[in-house]
Amino acid sequence: MADCPVCHEVTGEVIFRVTPEEAAQQFVVAESDPHRYAELVDCIRRLWKQGHCVIRHCSHCSFSFADPFIAGDKEFYNLAYARPAHTIDKWSFQRTLSELSSQDRKIERVLEIGAGYGYFLDKIAGKFVPASSIHAIEYHDEKISRLRRQGYTVLDGGLPALTDEDPFDAIFMFAVVEHMDDLDGLFGKLARLLRPNGLLFITVPNAARIDFQECHGSLRDMPPNHIGRWSPEAFRTVGARHGVRLDKDEIEPFSLVAFAKKDTHYFYLLRSQDHGTIVNWSRSRRAKRFGKLLGKAVAGLNAPQRLPVWYEAWRTRGIGPTLWVMFHRDAPSVASSVQMEQPAAAKLRV
Ligand SMILES: [Zn+2]
Repeated sequence: MADCPVCHEVTGEVIFRVTPEEAAQQFVVAESDPHRYAELVDCIRRLWKQGHCVIRHCSHCSFSFADPFIAGDKEFYNLAYARPAHTIDKWSFQRTLSELSSQDRKIERVLEIGAGYGYFLDKIAGKFVPASSIHAIEYHDEKISRLRRQGYTVLDGGLPALTDEDPFDAIFMFAVVEHMDDLDGLFGKLARLLRPNGLLFITVPNAARIDFQECHGSLRDMPPNHIGRWSPEAFRTVGARHGVRLDKDEIEPFSLVAFAKKDTHYFYLLRSQDHGTIVNWSRSRRAKRFGKLLGKAVAGLNAPQRLPVWYEAWRTRGIGPTLWVMFHRDAPSVASSVQMEQPAAAKLRV
């Protein structure tokens, strides 16, 4: 049993249990880089401070979470990913842009947390808000350089360094919150950083999609990369406690072609974790000449056995890849109670 990080009820349904060795094998197969793999195992064990992690589901608010609820740190991401990921989430961007277009309000100052290379900000700069009024939090040097070249202000010190003296009209977080712990610190801080009636846009992987994948022999959504699985109910619960009200939620439309492509890749990544198999051997050669091509060929050969899963996915409702939510900062009378919260210690670990 554990305290739910969203509703703080004691809860405990176990989805799965994993050791540092099993978790590390998903990110870096030992056969491809034994030294990096060993360092990653040590790093994960240090984060968890124990020899296992349990993914639990809360029956009260429907949040699912890693227990211990600890985000990956810089060392983890450096070891787990050879190159920093950057997603161009077309649907999330488009959905947010259409919402901004429909809002009858003046937007003078905005913030994107985990802004990446700034591809979303490029879409709003000059249209909804001048580039000089756009602020970004990002830690990767190459991404920071690009953000600054575009004329955006990159905030040194990240979220903890921000005060509520100069609040924002809108805050954006695309594919960030599922990586983060200290949710009360985070949402308390977000509420204080928003003007009354300000808007908060968040996207996360759709928990129903993750459940479907894990129940159909696909890759597990592994901590300490993703540590929270969000539903509208979970967002509503944590937001209400901090003075931001969930106004809208929407699941990205399902695409069978996109699902089949992703499923083929995930199934390959899952099978490649089994020692001594051809799939494992092909992944261990990924960095070598024609390694990527070899991986694609092996993944393609395995794809036909997934046809029944694709058919099942096509028949299942509500498993589009992304959950999009929009919050509204409550009026000052409610916001005053927000100031009673503990000082925020939100840490951004993306
Ligand atoms: Zn809960």
